[in-house]
Amino acid sequence: MTEKRVATPAMPDIPQLLQLVPDLEVIVAPAQVAKLSLDYFHFSPILEPQLRSKRADVVVRPTTESQLYAIAAIARQTQTPLTVRGSGTGNYGQCIPLRGGIVVDLSGYDEIVWLHDGAARVQAGVKLAELERQSRPMGWELRMVPSTVRSATVGGFIAGGSGGIGSVRYGQLRDRGNLHAVKVLTLEDEPRVLELRGHDAVQQVVHAYGTNGIILEVELPLAPALPWLEWAVCFPTFWQAAEFAHTLGSTDGIQTRLMSVHADPIPTFLPPLRSHLLPGQAVVLLVLAASDQEAAIDLIAQFQGQVLLNQEAPAPGKGGSLIECSWNHTTLHARTADPAWTYLQCLFPADPEFRVMRHLAACFGAEVPLHLEFIRQNGTLIPAAIPLVRFTTGDRLNEIIATYEAHGVLVANPHTYLLEAGGMKTVDLPQLEFKRRVDPLGLMNPGKMAAWNG
Ligand SMILES: Cc1cc2nc3c(=O)[nH]c(=O)nc-3n(C[C@H](O)[C@H](O)[C@H](O)COP(=O)(O)OP(=O)(O)OC[C@H]3O[C@@H](n4cnc5c(N)ncnc54)[C@H](O)[C@@H]3O)c2cc1C
Repeated sequence: MTEKRVATPAMPDIPQLLQLVPDLEVIVAPAQVAKLSLDYFHFSPILEPQLRSKRADVVVRPTTESQLYAIAAIARQTQTPLTVRGSGTGNYGQCIPLRGGIVVDLSGYDEIVWLHDGAARVQAGVKLAELERQSRPMGWELRMVPSTVRSATVGGFIAGGSGGIGSVRYGQLRDRGNLHAVKVLTLEDEPRVLELRGHDAVQQVVHAYGTNGIILEVELPLAPALPWLEWAVCFPTFWQAAEFAHTLGSTDGIQTRLMSVHADPIPTFLPPLRSHLLPGQAVVLLVLAASDQEAAIDLIAQFQGQVLLNQEAPAPGKGGSLIECSWNHTTLHARTADPAWTYLQCLFPADPEFRVMRHLAACFGAEVPLHLEFIRQNGTLIPAAIPLVRFTTGDRLNEIIATYEAHGVLVANPHTYLLEAGGMKTVDLPQLEFKRRVDPLGLMNPGKMAAWNG
């Protein structure tokens, strides 16, 4: 099947049309357009050459729903590609406009609509940290945040993220109950606003890279806010560290928000840890409830661990948190130390003895140092993993992925911008039908959904 092509009309008509929208910020300066066209795609040596030259033709920064409606109508009438951007912290070129057109930067569309009784409704451009800054004094916090919580938007997290700090208690964004409703603007002949409520309805736009509607508002449940401590705990070996984390995560009486396990040499890349380490040590980064620290200390001693760092979790939006050494921040720090490092994103089988993991660790050794992030999936503790990979060639990277998959590890390949290969694995029929309905010309973030490309 051939790809459904989107005819792009001659520029610069589109910026001129957009400039007619009252009070809309329209950006055409090449340097600013270049900055607002890219994300963290460069973590992948495969995506870097594919995406580095991609640019929008124009970037707009709406602050009102009527501006957004006007932008959608212009894109639809002129058949111009439209790609939504939150803060641009995505990793796989998720918000990079492959076919130019309009980038809609939603970071200024950022009002909290309401916040009470364990739930919140916010405009898509609200920063996750800002929401927590406002909810904490009321006794609530977000159930899960990415390690980019200080800069990422709520809309970008829903459309591009998966989970993070908090997923060890609440699972991932796509799990039932973690998202109540989403308000979406369509790119139909006459753009419309749809309210999607309930699990099946919201799944249509969760982690869809903004290919099927502009998310305007998000309604999500919160969690009771706890006083959290952040600890870095070292262990003589990675397997002691992993067994400790698995035991801790299975201990119902100790509340954790993060259990991030790092094999040598990864801890040496993490700036707050460097000066505290002995050669070869593995480290577990923990966020745990202050009330549970005594019980945690006992368990750490059983596994011959030692607390290297102990601090109160900084207030939302403040720097210096150990969570900025976890999830994909680990990859960031490794690449700062040596850009030859890249990464994979995996789910290992739930197995307290880590049999598959031990086998793969023996296969790849120092080429693929392990980094685990424990999460809950339907009540079961699972070692998700973001192992580092010492990059040599694309063929070798694919060989490592194939070996992982052959051993039953689910790999969400971060070296592709295609939605199916990266995050969702399949775009099912209801999602495709939904895209046909809300974006019949395929204008939204074109090129990212393989099922649409044909
Ligand atoms: C160092 C580092 C660490 C990270 N850690 C994590 C982590 O712990 N967990 C995790 O899940 N991710 C992580 N990420 C990825 C990313 O930071 C998060 O997914 C973040 O939530 C994305 O938010 P954003 O506002 O930057 O979105 P963007 O990058 O701007 O957008 C992401 C995707 O969502 C779409 N989009 C954005 N807003 C809307 C909207 N309103 N309507 C429709 N589509 C929209 C965009 O088109 C794009 O496809 C990490 C990335 C980096 C670089």
